Amino acid sequence: MIMTHPGLPELWGYLVWGFMLSLGVWSLFAATPAERPRRTLNLKTFRLTRPVLQLLLYSRWPLQLLKIIVVAIFLLVIVAGLYGTPIAERNLATVLTWNIWWAGLIVSVFFIGSAWCAVCPWDTLASWMVRPRLWLGKIHFKISNSLDLKVPRYLRNVWPALLMFVGLTWLELGIGVTTSPYATALLSLLMVVLATLGMALFRNKAFCRFVCPVGRTIGFYSQLAPVELRPIDTELCARCTTLECYNGTDKIDPCPTQLVMGSLSQNTYCTSCGNCARSCPQQNVSWRLRPPSQEAIADARPHWDEAWFMLGLLAMTTFHGLTMMPFWEQWMTAFAQMIGDSGQLLMSFSVGLFVSMLLPALLYALSVFMLQHFNANKKDFRSLFIGLVFVSLPLAFAYHLAHNLNHLVREGAGLLGMFKNPLGIGLEPLSMAEKHQRHFEMLISQDALFAIQGLLMMFGFWLAIKVLRHRGQRLLPEAGWRMLPMLLFIFLINGFNLWLLMQPMIMRM
Ligand code: SF4
Ligand code: SF4
Repeated sequence: MIMTHPGLPELWGYLVWGFMLSLGVWSLFAATPAERPRRTLNLKTFRLTRPVLQLLLYSRWPLQLLKIIVVAIFLLVIVAGLYGTPIAERNLATVLTWNIWWAGLIVSVFFIGSAWCAVCPWDTLASWMVRPRLWLGKIHFKISNSLDLKVPRYLRNVWPALLMFVGLTWLELGIGVTTSPYATALLSLLMVVLATLGMALFRNKAFCRFVCPVGRTIGFYSQLAPVELRPIDTELCARCTTLECYNGTDKIDPCPTQLVMGSLSQNTYCTSCGNCARSCPQQNVSWRLRPPSQEAIADARPHWDEAWFMLGLLAMTTFHGLTMMPFWEQWMTAFAQMIGDSGQLLMSFSVGLFVSMLLPALLYALSVFMLQHFNANKKDFRSLFIGLVFVSLPLAFAYHLAHNLNHLVREGAGLLGMFKNPLGIGLEPLSMAEKHQRHFEMLISQDALFAIQGLLMMFGFWLAIKVLRHRGQRLLPEAGWRMLPMLLFIFLINGFNLWLLMQPMIMRM
């Protein structure tokens, strides 16, 4: 018997729809917004946060310590996956990787942007193997086992990350890695191998910059994060001739993704490693707070490959939700019978994945095409396509958060207990009674969860409208109600995601 989580109640559905309709109609006729001054708050100026920030930004030990802890947990996950019980819900490898880390990672972006990358065990292990540094008191040794090749021009984009993202989704949901501790451990090791290979072959961190699907996912979502690492005084950066933030120093590595702090305008490729802050001789780098949509609205520059990554993110997020609906398996079985697919239904799943990727992209392209015609071809298709695609970020992020919260809140309880027996030795599969019991051990109450989910869907819609109005105003200043095709796109995507959220969802394990 399949266990499901209840979906969002109808009342919340009506509330979100009511909000979307009112805001959508208002946005068509309200005056187009003027450019607003950029408001930020340097966290180093607060007495409460200054000491913590001072420690995190300029001392290497807190970060090193965190990295060692994360690597230790990661190695425990590998051991549990390889040698522990194959029962997914009893093995730390599957529970920690899929129920906690994968679900919690997206939630963390909402508060701390791409901070995960600063402690990522794949990158830490790769760095320890390829570019180790050893500190003996004040004496410091640096070894490089890298060929330090230049990344070929045709690979300097996020197409490899998009391919990896689709590939991982296929492994995760098609092959069912999420329900196999052994496969989870192998996949984790594969990521370490890829990160190590990338570092051994190329200079800086090519894997993080161009290939890693996790890094790019949180990188793009970080465009919406309320925090950013930026120069305190941009004039000081403008006068700087040594660029330690970019080049590094004897003791500190260069920026792994080749960003120059003085001209940094988006979080997308920042891995929050803090090298720039530690290497700047003027201590001119700090974390600051900002409005959450600022970057998607104005600062981020449009690029063709990035536009497709953002659309891919939108499609994959919805697809994840879709595969956890009870009707998905019925669809797959019916389709498999139609095409004569047998066994694991891999062919049917692959077709489903392909169609789910294609549909939002086609819908978006159609909306842009209609927009172009509504506005008498004043702007070319490509400029509109890459300029407005930022609306997909808040839509994907809001649904991703709302969906992952379900996993985290309903399936995350009891994790600490698992550390007593991480390999799950001698344990039986969860009985139906135990699964039912888990419904009552939620991290927050069900009503609170529904309220957060409903508000998140409103928040995503609101941000998407803001992005559309500001970016639209710059691309087509006179458009007004002629932005309707893009508005319909936002309605359809958010409406569909809301509908998914209102359905019962199958428990991951
Ligand atoms: S980009 Fe990927 S490999 Fe690099 S630090 Fe982030 S999660 Fe780790
Ligand atoms: S060195 Fe580069 S990647 Fe690291 S925190 Fe600074 S800007 Fe971000």
